[in-house]
Amino acid sequence: MKFSKSCPECNSLEIYTKSVNAVGGYGPDLLPNVGGFFSKKQFQIYICGNCGYTQFYVPDKFLADVREKYPRA
Ligand SMILES: [Zn+2]
Repeated sequence: MKFSKSCPECNSLEIYTKSVNAVGGYGPDLLPNVGGFFSKKQFQIYICGNCGYTQFYVPDKFLADVREKYPRA
């Protein structure tokens, strides 16, 4: 559940959001096998400014690849 309105942990309304790269320069690829080779893979993150609770979301454009290529839990 995206908490773009209030934090599910502490109900704070102080929510920050940012797109962050899923592939760091020297870091692991956190979204392997999705998107094209040249597509910029990012997460949209939501962070509570009060308690620090954080959620990561895969953008809609990559979800088809996730459904096709990732094992279902
Ligand atoms: Zn919070």
